[in-house]
Amino acid sequence: LIATRNRHNDREIRAILGGSFQYLTLNDFPDAPEVVENAPTFTGNATKKAVELAHWLAGSQPSTAPRMPSGLNPQPSFVLADDSGLEVDALDGAPGVHSARFAALDSAMSGNTPDSDNNAKLLQLLKNVAPEKRTARFRCVIALVEINPQSAIRNPQLFDGGCEGHMGFAPRGKNGFGYDPLFVPVGFEQTFAELGEDVKNKLSHRAKALEKLKEFLQPSSK
Ligand code: IMP
Repeated sequence: LIATRNRHNDREIRAILGGSFQYLTLNDFPDAPEVVENAPTFTGNATKKAVELAHWLAGSQPSTAPRMPSGLNPQPSFVLADDSGLEVDALDGAPGVHSARFAALDSAMSGNTPDSDNNAKLLQLLKNVAPEKRTARFRCVIALVEINPQSAIRNPQLFDGGCEGHMGFAPRGKNGFGYDPLFVPVGFEQTFAELGEDVKNKLSHRAKALEKLKEFLQPSSK
């Protein structure tokens, strides 16, 4: 189970992990509890999401969930939870764990904010920051928890990845999501949104964390 309802996240994770696994997402479990991501670190939020959902799944029988083909049971099943975000050096690491709701951070509004609002706020805060001071990185932590009705839920395995780059001066490109139109990875002049998913999925923070996860699940695949 990929613990997301975000179709961009889901799409990237599937594209990087490839076809050797069977995937479900939270969209297959409309009754799944909403996990509040209020930990101060990516690791804390990814762990919280994976563990809470694994506990819920171990005890739940969602009638709406697609059934796994019986011939494939008892394949091990896992919850995979990703927490990720952008750290901008000139903003002391902001938006960080608040990346998804950066625009609403100082208001009473709850929930995530549109990518365009988050990008506009970031550009405004960086408007007087010189090109060489606009360094930033995406970070991703993935927590993986096995769901095994025969045993207690264990601590998650953790996998992390980072991608260094810098922030542009205006949104560029149509691909990807979030801060992709502003983020230029090291070694390139285009943003992630201009480079497109094939390039992004080879060098992104998520790709690096998922390569480690893949090696953990399929150690002989290299
Ligand atoms: P999460 O769903 O709590 O992990 O929030 C992640 C947020 O960080 C997203 O809503 C985006 O704003 C940002 N983010 C994470 N990964 C990426 C990426 O690959 N590209 C652009 N923005 C990202």
